[in-house]
Amino acid sequence: MPVDKHQIIEKEKAVVEGIELSSDWNRMFEQRVIWDYDLTYMDKITELDGGESLGWCYQCAQCVPVCPVDMVGSYGPRKIYRAVQVGADLFNDDYLWQCTTCANCLRVCPKEVDMIKIMPAVREQAVLDGNVPGELQEAFENTFEYGNPMGESPRKRADWVKDAGVEVPVLSQIKKPVDLLWLVECYPAYHPRGKEASQALARILTALKADYGILGTEEKCTCDTQRLAGEIGLFEEFAEENIRLLKKYKHNQIMVTDPHALNALRNEYPSFGGKFDVIHYTTYLAPLMSRLNLKNSLDIKVTFHDPCYLGRHNGEFEAPRAMLKAIPGVELIEMGRCRENSYCCGGGGGGMWLDGFMVDHVTERLSEKRVREAVETGADVLAVCCPYEVSRFEDAVKSTGNEGKLLVKDIIELVDEAMR
Ligand code: SF4
Ligand code: SF4
Repeated sequence: MPVDKHQIIEKEKAVVEGIELSSDWNRMFEQRVIWDYDLTYMDKITELDGGESLGWCYQCAQCVPVCPVDMVGSYGPRKIYRAVQVGADLFNDDYLWQCTTCANCLRVCPKEVDMIKIMPAVREQAVLDGNVPGELQEAFENTFEYGNPMGESPRKRADWVKDAGVEVPVLSQIKKPVDLLWLVECYPAYHPRGKEASQALARILTALKADYGILGTEEKCTCDTQRLAGEIGLFEEFAEENIRLLKKYKHNQIMVTDPHALNALRNEYPSFGGKFDVIHYTTYLAPLMSRLNLKNSLDIKVTFHDPCYLGRHNGEFEAPRAMLKAIPGVELIEMGRCRENSYCCGGGGGGMWLDGFMVDHVTERLSEKRVREAVETGADVLAVCCPYEVSRFEDAVKSTGNEGKLLVKDIIELVDEAMR
């Protein structure tokens, strides 16, 4: 291409804001427009309590390869920052509901852009404005009315104990202090597969002669997922009520089945006056495995999915693996994405109640991607220890055509099988 000498001569002397520079002109001296964006929504977010860190993003892209939603869609903190920077109204954007608060971006972000605080803060405003996807709103209303997001009768919360095959002590009936208060939570109390895991756990506790009790029909949702989905008012009301109830009974320690309940009690309830010694059931049972008479060898290959709210959020990676390794005939095979870099099942941060909404935003569900990863290991069983996961992964096994190839089981079900 011929050189336009006239253009070169004209641009030989660079003059910027009236100052003649010694260098030749080049495009970098032209005014760029990075300060011409409408920052209304960026300011509105960074002024929120919890929203400040969105403004710290410097677009380094460390978060891009680790965001589980970005892997099946088009999402992630880097994209959100850029969208808001060029004027997107996140308060009214579908982007707002896609984050599962899995914390994998926070793990790698050099600027500590914290989506686990940003998302609830922005979502809270959307909730106050009544701008919430219908299925999520239904879960909020169910929680408010029935004390659980599924809309089940509070009177049926302890019905699962009838088929446990052992006596399950209920604190209001036994009227004595216990060593261990077992907070069962909603899905383990109502969902058919959750109930099976709860019954298995009751049998294990009985075999260990544990001194424990449950709250039965007095129990209500701990509401951590509703909080992360933006229903802060509901969370606060339930936190105060739950703390009063937990203080009503004498106990040394609280054991939870659900990592989301663990997160609520360990990290959120203390600021409402509820400081408890709380552990996940895997942390409680891992050191006690040698006391169980596990007489059956299962002879299976098992892969394990780390729940985001047990692993990344609360640092427990070893106890579930210790339990699996203690079961006779279990060969543990890790998936490529595991431990700190584990993939997400898609249920956190309100995702449990947003599957219909997410269909338009992803090429496949997060649970389906994870099931494919589990199948690739050659495992017979995908072991889990979060009550959201059994139903999510069982659905995904069916929708990916892997029925008959992969079973989904709670770790406690495997222990129970080895014991019975
Ligand atoms: S890792 Fe942090 S700073 Fe880098 S692009 Fe992502 S959010 Fe921005
Ligand atoms: S918290 Fe998880 S889902 Fe949300 S943006 Fe970060 S990596 Fe993606």
